[in-house]
Amino acid sequence: MRQAMHAGATEHGDESGFHESTNNDRLIASLAALVIRLARMSLFEGKMVSGTSRTHGSPVGLGPDDRRAMGAISRACLIQGLPDHGAEIHDLLALCTRPLGEWLTLPEVVHAGLNHTVLIHADDGIPTAEAEELAAGFTGMTAAIEEQLFARFMDVLSRHPEGQANAYYTKVRDFVVRNPVCNLDDFKLGLTEEVPARVWLIIQREFYEAVPTGWCVDGTVPICDHCGNAMKKGRAGLVCRTAACVATYPARSSRSVAASSVMRVARGIRQYWVEPGIDELRLYDALRASGTPAELYPFRDRVDIAVGDTGIDLKTYVSPETLGQKFKRSIGGLAYYAQRLLVIPDWHVASVPSYLYRLTRTMGRDDVTCLTVSEALARLGSKESGYA
Ligand SMILES: [Zn+2]
Repeated sequence: MRQAMHAGATEHGDESGFHESTNNDRLIASLAALVIRLARMSLFEGKMVSGTSRTHGSPVGLGPDDRRAMGAISRACLIQGLPDHGAEIHDLLALCTRPLGEWLTLPEVVHAGLNHTVLIHADDGIPTAEAEELAAGFTGMTAAIEEQLFARFMDVLSRHPEGQANAYYTKVRDFVVRNPVCNLDDFKLGLTEEVPARVWLIIQREFYEAVPTGWCVDGTVPICDHCGNAMKKGRAGLVCRTAACVATYPARSSRSVAASSVMRVARGIRQYWVEPGIDELRLYDALRASGTPAELYPFRDRVDIAVGDTGIDLKTYVSPETLGQKFKRSIGGLAYYAQRLLVIPDWHVASVPSYLYRLTRTMGRDDVTCLTVSEALARLGSKESGYA
């Protein structure tokens, strides 16, 4: 057995500790990549994940890369004296819906700030944004799931002149975030006047789906007063299905609808648009209300919000280290703006110790300012900003 295996959790100064750390960084990346591969298979190819190896004539199941990732988890668990979490794919995926710090208690998970990181969204079975970031750059990873999910929508938009396409994009995304559960017929007339029929068809067929009867509470679907999403039964009453909403508002529902009378946004859309959209729209609406000329999702989502030459991205990564790494690698659409703000919801900053400090430190760049939503509002809404 190698020296490093006996090194213990606290020793990282020596060379063997360094190698172990590097291997385990890859370990998390390979686990995240496994999660992404399987999610893509289930989302886009409609295949169910089975524990049996992929064999000739039976494309459903696990490939060699998946087996390797599971084997690496098994080994790491053995070394740390943990149960063998890599042995069975369904067990492993179920664990991935819980914070890494609860089951994969490796020193590197702690050091990388990943204790509270979850790789799979429990309700939707969709990888979290953090899983995608952790898998980024891992061998064999291709286009992001989000890109694939919205490919047809973007393709239809691209057939229109730039300015028009951008306006359609913002209109549709704004609508979807504000109406996670709705009767599409109620909006059909209003929206079909504003977006082309082909775009409307995509909204109808790809962005929304029937509400399952399992979403009923006492026969109907309770709707959240704050964000319009459906609510579910919690331990102490109804709970909104939007995590960002639960974090900020007390649960309240004053209306209920028949499941057959409404549609819900499809699970991928929920994860990529609705969940982050709650905070994005809250900031956007507050800026507009203060007279600041904010634009939402300009240039088909170059940034989340733009105010003049200020670009704003809003993120709610659990781990400031993972988010910091992402922006260290690339600032994405913020590069188009002279002033660059990376904004974190106040509720999120309050729930993670030293969030902004850790984020800024990991990112290690001075061309992006990290601040809370309320700080961003104060800065952009003030008369001195020149925008308000
Ligand atoms: Zn809500």
